[in-house]
Order: sequence, then C-alpha cells, then structure tokens
Amino acid sequence: MKKVVKFGGSSLASAAQIKKAGQIIREDESRRYVVPSAPGRRYSDDVKVTDLLYQCYDAAMSGEDITEKIAVIKGRYDEIISGLELDLDLTEEFEVIRDLFMRKAGRDYAASRGEYLNGLVIAEYLGYRFIDAAEVILFDEKGAFDSEATNELLRRRLENVERAVIPGFYGAMPDGSVKTFSRGGSDITGSIVARAVRADVYENWTDVSGMLTSDPNIVDNPEPIETITYRELRELAYMGATVMHEDAIFPVRREGIPINIRNTNRPQDPGTMIVESTCRQPKHLITGVAGKKGFCSINIEKEMMNSEIGFGRRVLQVIEENGISFEHTPSGIDTFSILLHQSEFAEKEQAVIAGLHRAVQPSSIDLETDLALIAIVGRGMKAAKGTAGRLFSALAHANINIKMIDQGSSELNIIIGVRNDDFEEAIRAIYACFIDSDI
Ligand code: ASP
Repeated sequence: MKKVVKFGGSSLASAAQIKKAGQIIREDESRRYVVPSAPGRRYSDDVKVTDLLYQCYDAAMSGEDITEKIAVIKGRYDEIISGLELDLDLTEEFEVIRDLFMRKAGRDYAASRGEYLNGLVIAEYLGYRFIDAAEVILFDEKGAFDSEATNELLRRRLENVERAVIPGFYGAMPDGSVKTFSRGGSDITGSIVARAVRADVYENWTDVSGMLTSDPNIVDNPEPIETITYRELRELAYMGATVMHEDAIFPVRREGIPINIRNTNRPQDPGTMIVESTCRQPKHLITGVAGKKGFCSINIEKEMMNSEIGFGRRVLQVIEENGISFEHTPSGIDTFSILLHQSEFAEKEQAVIAGLHRAVQPSSIDLETDLALIAIVGRGMKAAKGTAGRLFSALAHANINIKMIDQGSSELNIIIGVRNDDFEEAIRAIYACFIDSDI
C-alpha cells in the first residue's frame, strides 16, 4: 500500500500542528510521500507565510528595506524549528532568499519559498528525503504545467526513494526559473505525486472533516459527504463548494486513484472519499447542494425563431467574439436566453447587445440581472422518480419563484435560477427537503 499525503497550511502552521501531522504520518507506514503547504494561519487574523512572502517581495521591488519583513518570516520558521526541537538553521537559506529577492527573482520564486522551507523542516522532522519540487515539477516555456514530462520524470525519480517530502505549489520552467500554480496549488502537487507513484490513495489533510452537503454559512451544521464521485465533485465545485483546488482532481482522476479529504485536527473522522465511481449507495437522493450569486440573463425574442436555422450559433458567436463564457442557454419556441456571469458581462454589455442586433435582428432583447444559480447534484438522482417534483414543491412552499430550470442529460444535476435575494432561503429549503428530512 502506498499513500501520498498532502497537508494544507493550517495543518502545518505551528510546531504543534506539525506534530499532529507527524503522528498521522508515522501511524501508517504506507504514508510514504508527503507534500506540504507553507505554514498557514495559526489563528483567524494571522497572515499566511505565502502572503508574507508576496508582501516582502513587493516591498523589495519598490526599493524598500526588507530586513524587518525577512526577519518576521524567518521568525515563523524558527519558532517551528525550536518547537520541534530540530537541529536546523535556516540562516543561510534566508540569505540566499534575500539576495534573490533583491535581484528580482520573481513573485513566483518569492511565494514558492514558503513551501520550500517548510519542506526542509518537515523532511528533517520526519527523517524523510527532501526533493525540491523545482527539480521534478515541470512547466513549459509558456508557463503551462507539463503533465506528461513531469509524470515520467517524477516516476523515475521516486522509483527508488522509499519516503520523501516534496514541497507543494511550485515547479520550474525550462530555463530553471521557479513557477507556481495558482493559489492553493499544493493540492495539485499532491495529486501529481500520487499519479506518478501510482498511489493507492491520495490523502488531502486539511482543517475540515471532508466535504459538506451544503454551505455551513447558509445551513446550520450540514452533514458531511461520505463518498462523492469526481463528476459530482466537479459540479459542486463549479458552484463554489470547494475543499481543494479544482485542478487537483485531474492527475489522479486519469489513473482512477481515490482522494480522501481528512481533518488533521480530527484524524478519527473518516472524511470524504472522492472516487471515479462507486457502488455505494448515497445516503440521500442528492449528494449535495451548492450555488452562486451574480448571474444575469440576456433574453432574446424573435418571431418564428424556431424555423430560423443557425440562430443559436449566431447568438453564441457574438458571445464568443466578446470573450465571454456562458453558463446556460434555456430556450423556448421564439425565445432564447443566455445566462452569464454578471461581472463578466457588465463591461461588454452594449457591445454584446449591438452585436446581437446585427447577428440575428431580434424583436426584442431584455436583460435580467441579480440572479443566482443553484445546483442540486447527486448520482442517486439518475432514474429516480419525483426528484424535480420534490424540488419544486420545496421551493414553492418556501415561496420562492424559479426563474430557470436546467437538467443535465446525465441526470446528475438539476440547476435552477432564482433571484439573488432568494438564494439562501432556497438552499435551506432544498437542504431541509432532501437531506434533513430525507426518508
Ligand atoms: N501556500 C500556497 C497558498 O497559500 C499554496 C497552498 O497552500 O496550497 O496559496
């Protein structure tokens, strides 16, 4: 059995947290490859080391003296090192970092030092081999992650390494300069390593006991999700329900490696298993409900639209030419609507309207703003009867008007549009109907 374990910033924010992670790792000898984040927040208004590094680098770029800022960052690591009683001195590392900051080594280089240094500390603490991610995670000249070259290199590199720490979040470009993934990107590194070593499971240790069936800021104490498929996760994540970086599923997904989201502060909890597919029946008809505010709808009307071939294509071409991505296109006989992110649309609004007039000569174009989309996601809905009926009656009882309905052909989700103002109430009504009082 081989496990890759990634620990997030809050799991490694202090010596006490690192000790918890260490215990988790030592408890199971199959936890052989460790991917750490940079130290995160120790308390709610603390600053993550990654943010301190960005601030420090920006200060260096504007010609400020960074002695104090570097000392604060070094202080964070020194506190960890002494708390873990390690015989490790990062003075020289910090001299190099300071020097390279002054020589404008780049913001990515700056940010990556959080993971790099934490990797050194954790490798020392565990007695594992340290492998610098800059040597094994490759980006191409354009800065795009090179998945195949990385997989090959990393696979060979780790073949004969029994146990290693590989810092998350960064890699290197062909010229050797450091490049990071987007924020939260250590999750991606963990997934890449899991793929390369063909792990049995990719454990992602964080500060929650898995994914929840709904947003805890809206629903009181939502139930955790035991098992979710990659496809369900993608639907929910798209609607903002995230426990990890969205791109982290791709490397493991192609190898069919499950992800287990776990809580470093409650290792006894089983967390959420994210799998390719499963025979396990979901506990409820729906796996989760999530949504987002801030959409708008362009409603186009034209007589005899139904017989006009190419109408939809011409409309969507206008959207494309304006560089906007659309979410849904509900249509009627003589109506065609396009749902878009309001913020993306707002600045191009008049150009889009003019473009649509030129492209399809509509009878009218009407805009509707401040809409929210809610996705009800669940593999259990496939072929289940009455799901939509229950959903609509739950919303009707909550006195909520549904502006749009879209059921994907996979029957994995039903998406509805409501007014922004009704959003929270709608989520609560759906949760109460499908999860709280599910039979
Ligand atoms: N340390 C980086 C961040 O704060 C990456 C990570 O933690 O995954 O975004």
